[in-house]
Amino acid sequence: MSLVGIGYDSHRLARGRRLVIGGVEIPYERGLDGHSDSDVLTHAIIDALLGAAGKGDIGQHFPDTDERWRDADSIALLEGVLEMIAADGLQLLNVDCTVIMEAPKLSPHREAIRGRLAEVLGLEAQRVNVKASTGEGMGFIGRGEGVAALAVASLQEQG
Ligand code: MG
Repeated sequence: MSLVGIGYDSHRLARGRRLVIGGVEIPYERGLDGHSDSDVLTHAIIDALLGAAGKGDIGQHFPDTDERWRDADSIALLEGVLEMIAADGLQLLNVDCTVIMEAPKLSPHREAIRGRLAEVLGLEAQRVNVKASTGEGMGFIGRGEGVAALAVASLQEQG
């Protein structure tokens, strides 16, 4: 049986924060604000994986009221979710995602993000697709106030 899950996340851009997207730090004057490292793409992927596995959402597993997750490396959280999925006898097939941000341009970093995520997810790079979009000047993304990410993941039961 194949399973699919969807994930969405957004974080505010703020001064004095690192901009980490898909486990890759991108040089920029502002970064993503939040309780953990606020890696918006990794959070969307975590929710897609949890969704496909029928295991709720990131806030249930890593609540932002818990000091354990303050400034947490989101890649480590993702690795924890991958362990949960493997323990359920599920295998990840592919991840597709879109990062929506006005600036900086994601395209120069796209292959680095893809490679990093493929390594962590245990997939070939071709099975991890990273797309970039903008808000076309509209809304919170268009005004540069924040970044959003969408992801889908498909799993299958290990035979
Ligand atoms: Mg988040």
